[in-house]
Amino acid sequence: QRDGKTRVLILMSDTGGGHRASAEALKAGFEELYGDKYHVDVLDIWTHHTPYPFNQMPKTYSFLVKYGFLWRAAFNAWQPRIVHVPCSTASSAIVGRRVSEAFDIYQPDLVVSVHPLMQHVPLRIMRMRIKYGMQPPTNFATVVTDLTTCHNTWFHPGVDRCYVATEASLNQALRLGLKREQMRLYGLPIRPAFGRAFPAKPKLRKALGMDLDKPAILLVGGGEGMGPVEKTVDGVARNIGADCQLVVICGRNAKLVEKLKNKEYPAGMHVLIKGFVTNMPELMSASDVIITKAGPGTISEALICGLPMVLNAFVPCQEEGNIPYVTENKVGVFEKSPERAAEIIRGWFGERRAEFEEMGRRCKAIAKPHALFDICRDLNTLVPAELQGVTGKAAVPMLAAA
Ligand code: UDP
Repeated sequence: QRDGKTRVLILMSDTGGGHRASAEALKAGFEELYGDKYHVDVLDIWTHHTPYPFNQMPKTYSFLVKYGFLWRAAFNAWQPRIVHVPCSTASSAIVGRRVSEAFDIYQPDLVVSVHPLMQHVPLRIMRMRIKYGMQPPTNFATVVTDLTTCHNTWFHPGVDRCYVATEASLNQALRLGLKREQMRLYGLPIRPAFGRAFPAKPKLRKALGMDLDKPAILLVGGGEGMGPVEKTVDGVARNIGADCQLVVICGRNAKLVEKLKNKEYPAGMHVLIKGFVTNMPELMSASDVIITKAGPGTISEALICGLPMVLNAFVPCQEEGNIPYVTENKVGVFEKSPERAAEIIRGWFGERRAEFEEMGRRCKAIAKPHALFDICRDLNTLVPAELQGVTGKAAVPMLAAA
């Protein structure tokens, strides 16, 4: 049922936590900028609008990334256009009817993909629908939520707009045939709450159940609590000293929460174990340093919060390039060994304090807290003029005309 609002359909999938976080950020960005002029739906089209086995994609991803070599093989096999374009075309033939039903249900005025596997199939089906008069011309935009080493399926030359976060991704898009005028380089869309001013640390820590005075190390394994979180907690807790506190976020990994809550920690050490949290901006603002896998979302959020980082793991392929991004920008280090990570952090809290504080300043200098609103304002221009939001800017010509 149309309600007079401009309808944006965001396509994502729960493969990791970053795609959903970006989708939710865009939704919040539209709300903050345009109030109730927009109705934004977030949809995993593969899970909810394709038949078996296509609807198993998030489960398949979770299985593959547990075995790095399997994920690397799948990532690389799917990388060449000569492979993924014909396979996507064949998949469209199988899933086309169900995906088309999704467009009937959501009736989008603008489609935005925040997932590498949400270009080829939905775009192809949407263009067929436009061609056969099943929906009016609708623009399609991609918001790339990886930082550096992106999969080639992110970049479809037929999209109306493609947003990237770094020069490296921009150059990759251009190499793959996208035109400069299709591209916008703003940064990753991060939830607006990360840009807010929070109370001073002691007040924030009190509200969060943290120790008010001890330096705080935040430990995160992405949205799924992936990587060596348990090993890192053990090693850091043993070596950091009870004059520091640990805040461990296990994401959706409920088993890990139970395991870590039942462990013994060094006497006097303040350790807080949490599952999936919705107040990451507060937790980062209350902490002094973060140990995390090299997830693009977490890195971008830590930069906004001025939080120097120790990267301790990465998902093969798409997160590998995030390590030099962090180390070359001198906002953190890569260290797999928990013992060595603890030693580095002790240095940062002690004799290397000046260097540590300089890192915090550099984080803020390279952070892109305005990227979300830059992206939303630009997306607003992709909506037909008669459906425009409150900015009143002229809509760009409909590039997606059948
Ligand atoms: N996140 C969250 N709550 C949690 C754990 C993670 O909101 O308990 C968010 C985190 O703030 C970030 C995203 O999930 O926005 C994780 O994205 P990232 O790209 O770092 O890693 P991924 O989970 O996609 O591998």
